[in-house]
Amino acid sequence: MAKEYLQEPLDPYKLCAAEREISFELPLESMQRAQDLLLDKQGSFRIQLKFSYGSQRLLQVEGHLKGEVTLECQRCLGPSKQLLDNHFLWGLVISEEAASNLPKTHEPVFIEKERLALLSVIEDEFLLALPLVAYHPEDECQLQPLEQDQSAEEPAETENNPFSALADLKESLKKKQ
Ligand SMILES: [Zn+2]
Repeated sequence: MAKEYLQEPLDPYKLCAAEREISFELPLESMQRAQDLLLDKQGSFRIQLKFSYGSQRLLQVEGHLKGEVTLECQRCLGPSKQLLDNHFLWGLVISEEAASNLPKTHEPVFIEKERLALLSVIEDEFLLALPLVAYHPEDECQLQPLEQDQSAEEPAETENNPFSALADLKESLKKKQ
């Protein structure tokens, strides 16, 4: 099912006029930019999208992203399952000006040549939904939390930390909006 929506850019005007609701499972493998963060690349997550016209003919999409991912626990470095359950509201726009005029409730998503490239926007949303730092709950973690003074002596691992890359990426996604 996902393929028909993802293979070609969608016509958002048609979908909004028809108030289409679509939902499908998307494999984690298709989230190219998240691959380094996922310890388990099998599985999928669910996307639900509801297209409609908001006030003043605003093209809008109410969305819900739900699924489970396995990330590296930053305390014991073991696999830690994290639940993703995010709601979002897109306002589809064709210019920076339209983006700055959007209601604060809407996240700007750009359409080009009257088409919406869904996969790339969902990937942005997936990255934003990932926790910036993943931990096991304390009672499930292999390592007890570090003592205060001990952790202060640890050298800061900023290099090669995929999570700092994620933080940068989130920052740039926000700026883009
Ligand atoms: Zn852990």
